Amino acid sequence: MSMTFADLSLAPALLSALAEAGYVTPTPIQAQSIPLLLEGRDLLGMAQTGTGKTASFALPLLHRLAASPRPAPRNGARVLVLAPTRELVSQIADGFESFGRHLNISVTTIFGGVSQMHQTNALRDGVDIIVAAPGRLLDLVSQGLCDLSQLEALVLDEADQMLDMGFAKPIERIVATLPQDRHTVLLSATMPKSIATLAESLLRDPAKVEIAPPSTTVDRIEQSVMFVDAANKKTALLELLRTPGIGQAVVFTLQKNIANEVCTFITEAGFTAEALHGNKSQGQRERALDAFRAGTAQVLVATDIAARGIDVDTVTHVFNHDLPSLPESYVHRIGRTGRAGRTGFAITLCDAEQRAWLRDVEREIGRSLSVHEDHPWHSEEARNSTMRPPLLGGTPPKEVKPQEKRVRKVWTEEEKQAARAAAKAAGGAA
Ligand code: AMP
Repeated sequence: MSMTFADLSLAPALLSALAEAGYVTPTPIQAQSIPLLLEGRDLLGMAQTGTGKTASFALPLLHRLAASPRPAPRNGARVLVLAPTRELVSQIADGFESFGRHLNISVTTIFGGVSQMHQTNALRDGVDIIVAAPGRLLDLVSQGLCDLSQLEALVLDEADQMLDMGFAKPIERIVATLPQDRHTVLLSATMPKSIATLAESLLRDPAKVEIAPPSTTVDRIEQSVMFVDAANKKTALLELLRTPGIGQAVVFTLQKNIANEVCTFITEAGFTAEALHGNKSQGQRERALDAFRAGTAQVLVATDIAARGIDVDTVTHVFNHDLPSLPESYVHRIGRTGRAGRTGFAITLCDAEQRAWLRDVEREIGRSLSVHEDHPWHSEEARNSTMRPPLLGGTPPKEVKPQEKRVRKVWTEEEKQAARAAAKAAGGAA
């Protein structure tokens, strides 16, 4: 018989909350991490979103808080979770609140882009759990508005992304204010040297848990590409959205204005859709995500900024209206489907200008995508294109992979004649 949460010796209040959330069987990372964290071991976990990693630390930490009740320290907290983006911060806090609903536990979120007054008010009397993005938290710590000297446990979630986003220094400065004697968990989707070094400086004799390398989620996603002309993309997308069997879909676009255009286009065609991108205020982004989570919006049209934060199990399809300019974004985008063990579909629309980016993506994932040809918009021109990809405005991305040198073919006179003859022969035969 497979293991259930009841086998993990969690507090009854947590088991009830899990049952109410419909969780029965722990995922592999939960089955492995929860007993170790209940024992108080430090943990180094390699796992990405979609594996159930949030519950893997939230449940044992809630259990430990409840097992040794004490007032939360003024201006501080008993548990701190650091995460890279405000979307992830909110999601983790929602997880703590949902699992801890039958416990008397307070949770607060801290991130930038919104007024800090609310956050400092929430902190004044102390909270059990802070979930924070490192930048704003460090601001509050530096202003003396947050005191973490009584902290009992620290979690760093998606540590690799935090380092990628330049949070190494803020993390270091926050950690310098924490007590040495604490319980620490570090989770990361990848384990580059920088993470190994960070882990060494933060963790004491950590247990190691490694779950499902990123390809496992991707393996559950059926990926394909349709070659279409740029002018036909919106219509093709609309037809795809009308395919029976689509639950909820995320559409990715290259730029904010395209996200808005696509959102308007499909809304006018009768879909409920929300756009999510960096030009939207925090409130608008939260409302869009809430509507999508609640199912009142069937389609979310997003730019890459939002890719990591979208965690909705019912997403059956990801459509790439545009290829991403950075191949690794493709992997984050398609990871919005195929969650919680389900199968997902990712269909990419590729026009002539973005053809080179498709090659980059295929190199990144180590395989070529299967091509859908059987549709009215199929474009051989897009498929065979050797055009340069568009130059994007704004600041260039931090890490641009060197582009392959593209050699433009120069035709010799003999080749031109041979090609003309072949064309004539083909025309004559038809
Ligand atoms: P995470 O990796 O924490 O982002 O979790 C991915 C998704 O899996 C979340 O939306 C959870 O609701 C869901 N999930 C996590 N653990 C379980 C479980 N044991 N049973 C069912 N669903 C789960």
